Amino acid sequence: MADSKIPIAIAYGDGIGPEIMAATLHVLDEAGAPLELHQIEIGEKVYLKGISTGIEPSSWDIIRHTKAFLKAPITTPQGGGFKSLNVTVRTTMGLYANVRPCVAYAPFVRTKHPSMDVVIVRENEEDLYAGIEYRQSAEVCKSLKIISRPGSEKIIRYAFEYARHYGRKKVTCFVKDNILKISDGLFHKIFDEIAREYPDIQNEHWIVDIGAAKLADTPEIFDVIVMPNLYGDILSDVAAQISGSVGLAGSANIGDRGAMFEAIHGSAPRRAGQNVANPSGLLLASIMLLIHVGETATAERIHNAWLSTLEEGIHTYDIFKEGVSKVKVGTREFASAVAKNLGKKPQNLPVVSYQGSKKFATLSGPRVIPDVKRQLVGVDVFLQSTDTAEALLKHAAAHAWEPLKLHMISNRGARVWPEGHPETSCVDQWRLRFMHKDKTSTVTHAEIFKMLHEITEHGYDIIALENLYLFDGTPGFSAPEG
Ligand code: NAD
Repeated sequence: MADSKIPIAIAYGDGIGPEIMAATLHVLDEAGAPLELHQIEIGEKVYLKGISTGIEPSSWDIIRHTKAFLKAPITTPQGGGFKSLNVTVRTTMGLYANVRPCVAYAPFVRTKHPSMDVVIVRENEEDLYAGIEYRQSAEVCKSLKIISRPGSEKIIRYAFEYARHYGRKKVTCFVKDNILKISDGLFHKIFDEIAREYPDIQNEHWIVDIGAAKLADTPEIFDVIVMPNLYGDILSDVAAQISGSVGLAGSANIGDRGAMFEAIHGSAPRRAGQNVANPSGLLLASIMLLIHVGETATAERIHNAWLSTLEEGIHTYDIFKEGVSKVKVGTREFASAVAKNLGKKPQNLPVVSYQGSKKFATLSGPRVIPDVKRQLVGVDVFLQSTDTAEALLKHAAAHAWEPLKLHMISNRGARVWPEGHPETSCVDQWRLRFMHKDKTSTVTHAEIFKMLHEITEHGYDIIALENLYLFDGTPGFSAPEG
């Protein structure tokens, strides 16, 4: 009955996309998944029509009015002016949680980590992926890393809820807060706050560099790992690859008002049109979609049929190994083998069960804006200049900026005055920090504008400003290194 079907949006994408989508839809169809498919155009063809986001404007309504979006990978054309379609869909639709299970299927798929079963929960809307970048001078570019309290709360709460829902024991947080004390420091602080609400789940924190090394070396010590966007992007590829193949991992992008499901890999153009690509990533993504829309029995049937196919040694080229695999098959043949196995359960790999699994509700709570007193105490002025620190200082220190006072000069974060070091290498972007002469007294915007005017009168080229605030008396700005 057409009207009892669940409407979903689908896109065939580019490169290997059409082949792995056809294979996935074949299995879904054979399993009797009650889906009503609404196809949209995305990717290279749309970009090349001059639409910089890679998605037809009319497609948004289809995504909005269907229950979920199953998306094959796309190719982003080379060159400037093209926005990432994935980032656009994630941020436009508020799909804040990117969930990437990375599981080993040993001994049927060769891996150095046979007991690996890690779920990476990656923040999806902010961090450096906000894509706010500037070239500021002849020598310097800058990107903004944005970490917000609402963004961090949503993703960290999601990770703990996910762990509780799926019977997982531990949530680990990866950040770099020994260096990024304010931005990653906020993510870590919120992790500790939220972890206290889940005493039944263990929690721990690792600095991302050693955490990444441990993940690559002993992934079995991790369970669920929550991370800001960039670390999650990189490390989920690493995790998928070391579990067996990047072609074996599916992912979910979940928001309060929409969801998108995709393989974690890209469009692999070199493999396109040859019927060789592994459709497993997209197939596993479609299983996550079925669970999301409440079709748990079909999800379970397909997942167990897929595991049985791996066990039978019916493998695509990327996971085919002499002595382990039995038959090397193409994309279509692999899908047919999975379809033939519907109803079978794996004999050695753990049987999956989604029966009775309630829909996993997303839980963004109401937004609570912290009640903090914010006080403007100064400004960092960024200048383009090929002067030396001494020449800059001669002008800046000779002038009275009343009631502001030059507090320090730094270059690329390294302090060059006061107490600079001759070895520090400098580029053409300088930061001059001005604070009220009483240091913690309030500065007005009018006083800052007056000072900026005086700086330009001295012939300096201001390229950016950053106000310095105290929040309840605590500096909301970093001290320079050195
Ligand atoms: P990729 O993931 O497409 O492919 C890298 C290599 O991994 C391939 O050459 C292939 O050897 C292997 N591989 C990947 N998927 C496979 C599969 N299903 N079966 C067998 N082997 C597989 O990465 P790339 O080459 O860096 O990117 C190609 C294009 O994909 C680029 O245009 C990139 O922007 C895009 N991309 C899209 C997405 C997406 O749409 N979600 C994600 C990443 C990259």
